[in-house]
Amino acid sequence: MIKALEYFLEIIHGAWVTTRHFVVNMWFHTLNLLGIKTRRKGAVTIQYPEEKKEIAYRHRSLHRLLKREDGRPRCVVCMLCATTCPSECIYIEAAEDPEDDEFQKYPAKFIIDLSRCCFCGFCVEACPEDALRMDTQKIELAEYSRLDLLYDLEKLLQ
Ligand code: SF4
Ligand code: SF4
Repeated sequence: MIKALEYFLEIIHGAWVTTRHFVVNMWFHTLNLLGIKTRRKGAVTIQYPEEKKEIAYRHRSLHRLLKREDGRPRCVVCMLCATTCPSECIYIEAAEDPEDDEFQKYPAKFIIDLSRCCFCGFCVEACPEDALRMDTQKIELAEYSRLDLLYDLEKLLQ
């Protein structure tokens, strides 16, 4: 009997906590809707994917490779990004450009395996040429196949 009473009190306590959060959130949300400034906002459900939350400017999103003025990748294949990557998910193959005295090397292959990437941003920090950035603001990267998460030069230069 005493156990049953304890369970009942726990249920009442749980219902009280839920109701309190609901009423407080609804109160602040309604005030904000009416344009009344309060010290906190009510919890708001975002109707994703129709509605999207604004992504912070510094958010580390999908990678991109930058181009030079002539359209070629800015990357000089120094391998710093691949070396510093803790997930070892950057694969680069260098090729020699005999006509380019200044840079000489260019990436024949540049692949980032997003299925292994932890979005730490170390590769961007390591790049001395500012050739790699994570500022595309793209975060919807789900795919049905792991192979589709291999981002090659063509995808990264878009
Ligand atoms: S963000 Fe981090 S894990 Fe992803 S490719 Fe760059 S260094 Fe590697
Ligand atoms: S660190 Fe920059 S320049 Fe060096 S290989 Fe990576 S992207 Fe290219």
